[in-house]
Amino acid sequence: MPAQTPPEDPAGDCIFCKIIARELPAFIVDEDEDTLSFMDINPGTRGHALVVPKRHTQDLITAPADDLARTAVAAQRLSARMKEKLGADGVNLLNCCGADAWQTVFHLHIHVIPRYKDDPQRDPLRLPWIPAPGDMDDIKAASEELIA
Ligand code: 5GP
Ligand code: ZN
Repeated sequence: MPAQTPPEDPAGDCIFCKIIARELPAFIVDEDEDTLSFMDINPGTRGHALVVPKRHTQDLITAPADDLARTAVAAQRLSARMKEKLGADGVNLLNCCGADAWQTVFHLHIHVIPRYKDDPQRDPLRLPWIPAPGDMDDIKAASEELIA
């Protein structure tokens, strides 16, 4: 899928703003005053959905805190429903912030990905890295760089 570049006039050319405005079709599964949730058209697992704030904002870092909080609460609500209605065993939340972190649509969104154990048909996902112990000196150095 080709990445959209972050637009000059973000909201004007944004597919998620068009879904919010009902100018593009989507399978909508949840809505409140501030957020919309709809199915991802390239699902990682059965039931994979996206939650977006209605107010356009490019990504996680530029999002106003209240929009981010409301989007997270909507993702929580949808996660519970995925367990209840789809029989998911667990749920992953994913946010990609920036093109180098796999973001392709530059309107903040949280992926809500239901997980099904021992069911490769509905859930073919695997971790994108192999967990292995890190170098303690580098972990410590990174922690020191991160402290505000
Ligand atoms: P990102 O890569 O930015 O984290 O996620 C963007 C997601 O939006 C992708 O998983 C992609 O499948 C989904 N997507 C892209 N275009 C559309 C669309 O027109 N409609 C819907 N429902 N999802 C889309
Ligand atoms: Zn938008």
